[in-house]
Amino acid sequence: MDNRSLSSLATDSDYDPNSMPVDKAREYIRAFLTPVSAVERLHVRAALGRVLAQSVSSTMNVPLNDNSAMDGYAMRFADLKADTAVTLEVVGASFAGKPFWGTVGLGQAVRIMTGGVMPENCDTVVMQERVTVSGDRVTIPSGQQKGQNVRYAGDDIKRDAVVFERGQILRPAELGMIASLGIGEVSVYRKLRVAFFSTGDELASIGQPLGAGQLYDSNRYTIYGMLHRLGVDPIDMGTIRDDPTAIETAFAEASRAADVVITSGGVSVGEADFVKQILQRLGEVLFWKIAMKPGRPLAYGKIGGAHFFGLPGNPVSAMVTFYQFVREALLVLMGVPNPAPLPTLKAVCITPIKKAPGRTEFQRGILAPDSDGQWTVRVTGNQGSGILSSMSQANCFIVLPDAQGNTPAGATVDVQVLEGLI
Ligand code: AMP
Ligand code: MG
Repeated sequence: MDNRSLSSLATDSDYDPNSMPVDKAREYIRAFLTPVSAVERLHVRAALGRVLAQSVSSTMNVPLNDNSAMDGYAMRFADLKADTAVTLEVVGASFAGKPFWGTVGLGQAVRIMTGGVMPENCDTVVMQERVTVSGDRVTIPSGQQKGQNVRYAGDDIKRDAVVFERGQILRPAELGMIASLGIGEVSVYRKLRVAFFSTGDELASIGQPLGAGQLYDSNRYTIYGMLHRLGVDPIDMGTIRDDPTAIETAFAEASRAADVVITSGGVSVGEADFVKQILQRLGEVLFWKIAMKPGRPLAYGKIGGAHFFGLPGNPVSAMVTFYQFVREALLVLMGVPNPAPLPTLKAVCITPIKKAPGRTEFQRGILAPDSDGQWTVRVTGNQGSGILSSMSQANCFIVLPDAQGNTPAGATVDVQVLEGLI
């Protein structure tokens, strides 16, 4: 679908903006994403959470040398006997970072500590708990295996291997692996800039008194949090009145300042019309009704060079829509070619759920082991799209697919785990 214009989607035979399946919407969005290309060199520690712009290769084996996995004695296996103990002469020691440089002859052994380099000619390590020491003699019982307790050079990382491909997100383990190769700097994509604002005359910002019928703008805080966790640069553009001039100005400024613009509110029926007109002037934006609950309205498109996501205003809908569509899209834009989907597992649902077929539902759930250690899930209670406490109590979404109807208690359901989501 490369190089298509957004408006050409309308020619697809199954394109229905008023009833868009969740997967179809994800697929369409995916087809129009162009990742950032600018690259910067960062110290490995500063690269935490960033995306590699260049693969990382190893110029060495990790570990560099064969070494001992235990505190004990290193020897030649050929000196040992299968059925009787053998006494060897201890001729030196190999400590981690202080190798034994001598040679080990017939009938000899070397004291060795964990991480100590295997002396030349030695191929086997016997744990210190298994031996008997007397002066410079060590007695090794029968029944040892050739090569036991030895860690080989390159066991972790082989020389000349591509260790990480471009597009890899750098988590703590990756930082450690890069450091273990002695590499101090990496090339990563620049941070994605994401501007966001809320729309609605009913919204007040923290610090302002609430007028009758007003509520505090919470979406700017959930969206900030979700963006921050993903490792983008969030740009908070505030709360904008439902006023055409103010909204047009905000869209124009946001699209100049950022790679991505995210708004909440203003895309539901009734409001969409005037926002639609503004967006059609500034760019190319599609308005969809997704076959899902919560989170039906979603606008997606381009404003100038910026990608645009118009999320529903309801606080739960805004979060669900972010996790189902925006998160993965942002990862692609950050330079991750194939982001892993949210981890999904099966659990027994202990509460019955009422549901009409024809749309995907994302109920907020609490996943916990029961007394037998079996993972079970229950809904958080009130599933209204304005009940933000349902997101706070939840540690997962219970995902009920389009075709599914009512779900009895005891049924197995899919859950997407929310804990620790980047
Ligand atoms: P809308 O999508 O603009 O029609 O808004 C739907 C509902 O979400 C309304 O009840 C709004 O008051 C509420 N809402 C919209 N934006 C926000 C926000 N930023 N924070 C909290 N609630 C909001
Ligand atoms: Mg509104």
